[in-house]
Amino acid sequence: MALTPLPLPRLQQAILGTVPVLTDDALARTSGVRVAFTGREGGVSQGAYGSLNVGDHVGDDAAAVAENRARAARALGAVPEAVLALNQVHGTDFVTVREAGAAALEAARAQGRAGADGALVTVPGVLALLCFADCTPIIAVSPAGSFAVAHGGWRGCAGGIGGAAVHRLAEADGVAPDEVNVYIGPHIGPCCFEVGDEVAARFRDEFGSECVTADGRHVSMEAALRVDLARAGVAPERIAAVGVCTQCHPDRYFSYRASGGVCGRHGALAFKGA
Ligand SMILES: [Zn+2]
Repeated sequence: MALTPLPLPRLQQAILGTVPVLTDDALARTSGVRVAFTGREGGVSQGAYGSLNVGDHVGDDAAAVAENRARAARALGAVPEAVLALNQVHGTDFVTVREAGAAALEAARAQGRAGADGALVTVPGVLALLCFADCTPIIAVSPAGSFAVAHGGWRGCAGGIGGAAVHRLAEADGVAPDEVNVYIGPHIGPCCFEVGDEVAARFRDEFGSECVTADGRHVSMEAALRVDLARAGVAPERIAAVGVCTQCHPDRYFSYRASGGVCGRHGALAFKGA
């Protein structure tokens, strides 16, 4: 039986439960997959972590982070016990969950603790939650109902983590890459992402001059990702990007650079209910 095509991706602001997010309602209706990018609002953390910090490795109060993660989980219709988070290490390794149940989820968590920057989930009932402050969140969703969530730091982006997420997802579900929706979350924009000559040259060599600004010192992670995703077979109309720079908007999003390194993390989340 042919799969129902996904609606073209469209991000809109919404409040899910108690949490303000960017999400795609039509995607959720069609596929059952709920995607969300959280911001700073809706949580209980204080100060530099205020308020919806979902990072558990940044010096915030552990109980506050647990409450924030529980709120984010419930916002997507998940229980807090469904959360799969990763120890993100700026690489390109993925953790895959192909079986339902607590044992498979615990095995994935153990793998995630060892270090990974992508989660591929092909079963209902698992909430992937990745953490960001300037790096680029990537969520890919297949019409068969599986999804991948990835962390694109500059090393991950340069290493092709966006294309890898789509490739792994399409292969797992037996779908074509041009059937996959991709959502690019809030991240540091080319206005602020100043890099050294070596990094600029690496992006120019890998993805073309369109991802480096005219002065040669600023990189657009989104432009690089779009090239990477196009090479992986993603249709341009199936990419939706938030287009907000985190460093320019530290009131709305956590920014490692804007905060001088002490800040919370906003989340990229995906979940499909059982
Ligand atoms: Zn900026």
